[in-house]
Amino acid sequence: MAIPMLDLKGQYKKIKPEIDAAIQQVLDNSNFINGSEVNEFEINLAEYLNSRYVIACANGTDALQIAMMALELKPGDEVIVPAFTYAATAEVVGLLGLVPVLVDVDPGTFNIKIEDIEPSISNKTKAIVPVHLFGQTCDMERIMEIAGRHNLFVIEDNAQALGAKYTYSDGREVYAGTIGHIGCTSFFPTKNLGCYGDGGAIFTQDKELASKIRMVTDHGQKVKYFHDIIGCNSRLDTIQAAVLNIKLSHLDEYSVARYRFAQRYKQLLKGVDGIIVPEESGNSTHVYHQFTILVKGRRDELRQYLTEKGITSMIYYPMSLNNQKAFGKISEIRVSLDNSEYLADQVLSLPMHTELKDEDQITICKAISDFCK
Ligand SMILES: *Cc1c(COP(=O)(O)O)cnc(C)c1O
Repeated sequence: MAIPMLDLKGQYKKIKPEIDAAIQQVLDNSNFINGSEVNEFEINLAEYLNSRYVIACANGTDALQIAMMALELKPGDEVIVPAFTYAATAEVVGLLGLVPVLVDVDPGTFNIKIEDIEPSISNKTKAIVPVHLFGQTCDMERIMEIAGRHNLFVIEDNAQALGAKYTYSDGREVYAGTIGHIGCTSFFPTKNLGCYGDGGAIFTQDKELASKIRMVTDHGQKVKYFHDIIGCNSRLDTIQAAVLNIKLSHLDEYSVARYRFAQRYKQLLKGVDGIIVPEESGNSTHVYHQFTILVKGRRDELRQYLTEKGITSMIYYPMSLNNQKAFGKISEIRVSLDNSEYLADQVLSLPMHTELKDEDQITICKAISDFCK
């Protein structure tokens, strides 16, 4: 039996009675769109995150697009995006005719390299999109300070770090996604808070922005059939909201489980030659969306070796955005992207999920250390 990256079925089995009842209720009510569960979920998530406003939408990519539309970014405006991220972050920038300005990431935390932001700002720059990659928050205090000085919007791509907490230098703790002008997340099934289809949400602390975001998600209308702006159609459906209401109540235990497995990986891989385990930044808790190691030199051989042993692993991400066909031409690059390119060649993500088994972790780490001998 192969060791999988994920075990969504195992996770479902543990909460099956609650989930089945919640879905059955949606079926009984048959309010498949805009059922009461959707608003309930927005309220529950707002409460959890201590965010003033939460607006649900259809997926995380839409959330990012809607954020940029609500901020009225215009074609030609520049948006600073890390080169080492999931493509969706930069894709919506391109889709709206904005210019992605790619910056590098820190090779230890995988998060945006703060020193690259200012040299990348021009008089066309309108926004920065920090991505809280693999489960920990970027250095938001410094990002907000730079954004404030240059009058830029900050849109947090929090698809991978829902539930992570950021600590300011004065000790104040806030949830990832609630710090920038807008925060975006995804409920894709494999995310830390995943639904059973597609889903996403947008956070803001600003009342006017919240109302604009809601309009954009709903065809640009505030009053039905009166369209004030061009929007889109992006909704979280009721069944997904019902699932998320249940799963949100388990998110903290899920984060604890992931963290425990990550610490175990670190312990089991300690001293293995040629393997570097991920760094924790110190100013954020880590919810380990992925556990991603660096393999010096022989990453692809190690992956092949693990596959032969029945161990699944994944490469997130095999190419930095500057080298992607779709992004190379439309992007601006004003700094070195060496770390992003280096990471694309070295990263390997190991199985990481709430149902991981202690003995499987031992098998995985034994295989890695055998390979590295
Ligand atoms: C998953 C993800 C998205 C997109 O979310 P979807 O719901 O799949 O559209 C965007 N950014 C990052 C960093 C992601 O991991």
